[in-house]
Amino acid sequence: MTGAAPFGGHPVSAETLAFLAREHPLLIGGREVAGSGTMATFDPATGLELSRFAIGGADEVDAAVAAARRAFAGPWRSLTMQARANMLYRLARIMADNATLLTELDVLDNGMPRFIAGLTTANCIEMIEYYAGAVLRIEGTTTAPPHHVAQETEALTYTLREPVGPVGQIVPWNVPLSTAILKLAPALAAGCTVVMKPSEETPLSVLALGRMIGEAGFPDGVFNIVNGLGAEAGQALAEHPGIAKISFTGSTATGRRIVQAALGNLKKVGLELGGKSPVVVMPDADLSLAVPGVAMATFFLQGQNCMAGTRIFAHAAIHDRLVEGLAAFAEGMTMGHGLDPATMQGPLISAGHAAKVMGHIERAVADGATLVTGGRRAEGAGHFVQPTIFTGCRADMALMREEVFGPVMAIQAFETDDLDEIAALANDTPYGLSGSVWTRDLSVAHRLVARIRAGHVSVNCHGAVGTNIPFGGFGQSGWGREFGQEGLDGYLETKAVTVRL
Ligand code: NDP
Repeated sequence: MTGAAPFGGHPVSAETLAFLAREHPLLIGGREVAGSGTMATFDPATGLELSRFAIGGADEVDAAVAAARRAFAGPWRSLTMQARANMLYRLARIMADNATLLTELDVLDNGMPRFIAGLTTANCIEMIEYYAGAVLRIEGTTTAPPHHVAQETEALTYTLREPVGPVGQIVPWNVPLSTAILKLAPALAAGCTVVMKPSEETPLSVLALGRMIGEAGFPDGVFNIVNGLGAEAGQALAEHPGIAKISFTGSTATGRRIVQAALGNLKKVGLELGGKSPVVVMPDADLSLAVPGVAMATFFLQGQNCMAGTRIFAHAAIHDRLVEGLAAFAEGMTMGHGLDPATMQGPLISAGHAAKVMGHIERAVADGATLVTGGRRAEGAGHFVQPTIFTGCRADMALMREEVFGPVMAIQAFETDDLDEIAALANDTPYGLSGSVWTRDLSVAHRLVARIRAGHVSVNCHGAVGTNIPFGGFGQSGWGREFGQEGLDGYLETKAVTVRL
C-alpha cells in the first residue's frame, strides 16, 4: 500500500514531470485558451494534487464549435484523403515516441496498473494506424438507377460516403486515453472535426494528445479540447446546434440526459453506457482457465470497466471449486500504486466513488448475500477497495441489478442444464453490453452465445475486444457500435446520386 509520497514514492520520467508542471489551457482553433477557471486533478492512489488545468463552460464550447465548423468547411475538407491518412500515421508515430508520457499520465490520473496503461497506449497507437489505413477504403457503391429515369435515358446511380460534420465527443475517466482515441480516430478518418470534453477526473492524457495532434500537422480547429464540468461544458456540447453528432461513453443516467440535449437539432447520438454483464460457468468448464478469467472479468481496471463481468452464474457442480479458486485469486491480488510493478489492482477513481462502491457492498450484506472475501476499504489517503466476492446472490438483489463499477463480484449458483433457463438468468437485466460462457462443449457454447442478449460475448475468455471488432450494447447499454468498420460508419453519411447521362 502507498503512503502520501508523490507518485507513491515511485520514479516517473522527466517528460511526465515536465508535463505535470506545465499550464494546461483549453485547445480551441489551434490556440491555447485560458478558459473561465481552473481545476486540479489528483492521484487517486495518494490523494495528492498532480496538476491544474483550465476549464470552460458554454462560451468556450461555443468558440470550440465555431472553430470545428471553420476547419470542417475549410482546410480539413480540402485535404486529399491520402493527406488525411498520412496525418493520422504521423500522429501514431508521435504517440509511439511519447508512449511513456501517455502511459504514465493515465497511471497517475486514473490509478490503473502500469502494465494495463502500457497496453492501452499501444492499443491506441494501433487504432490510429487502423483508421489511417481505413481512410482509403471509404467507398460507396453503384446501383441500378431508378426506373422512371432509366426508362427515359441512360443513367448512373452511385453512393458517396461523406463525413457527418463537426462532432462532439464526451469521454469518461475509466480508460481516459483509450476512450478518447476510439472516438477520435474514426472521426478524423471519416473527415469530421472534433470538440472533445474529457472527464474532469482525468484530463491529462487527452491534453497531451492535443499537443501531439498539433505536432502532427492537423489544421487548426480539427481537434479542440474543452475541459469542464459535465453538467456545464458537457451539457452545452450535447445541446449545441452546430454539432452534427454527439458521441458519449459513461453512465446510463447521463446518457439519457445526452439524448434529451440532442433533441434540439436532432443531432445523431452514439452511446456506450453501463453494463451488468453475465458470466456463465458450465459444469465442464476448464477451471484452470475459468478461475483467472472470471476473476479478471470482474476485477480488471478495479472493476471500473463497462464490460466487466459482474454477475457470475456458476453451475452447482463446480460452484464450490470455482468460488474457492476465485477467492484465492482475489486474495493474491496486490493492491498498490499503479507505478509499482507488483500492483495488480489500483485505487478507485475518487473518494466519492469508493464510498459509493462501499455502499453497494454494505447493501449486499444487508440483503443477505454471503461475503466470501474482501469487502473493506483500505486505510490511508488512496481510494483502495479490496477485491470483493459475494455468493448466495439472487436476481432481486441490488448487487445483481445495479452497475457497481468497482471490484465487486456477485455469484449465483444454478442447477439446471436447460440452456433457455440459463440464458433467462443471464438476460435478466436491462443492460446488454458484454458476457462470457465458460465450457469445453462447443455446441453448448454456441447455443448459449446465441441466446445471450449482449453486443459482445466471449467463450472461455471475457471482454475480448480489439481494434477491428465492433463493440457496443443491446438494450440500455447504448446505441451504435464503436471499433472496426462500424466505428467508422458511425461518422459517415451516405449520399445517393443519380445522373442522367
Ligand atoms: P458520467 O456518465 O456522469 O460521466 C461521463 C462523462 O460525461 C464525463 O466526461 C462527465 O463529465 C460527462 N457528463 C456528466 N454529466 C453530463 C451532462 N449532463 N451532459 C454531458 N456530459 C456530462 O459518469 P460518472 O463519472 O459520474 O460515473 C458514474 C457512473 O457511471 C459510474 O459509477 C459507472 O457506473 C458509470 N460509468 C460508465 C462508464 C462506461 O465506460 N460506460 C464510464 C464512466 C462511468 P465530468 O467528469 O466532468 O462530470
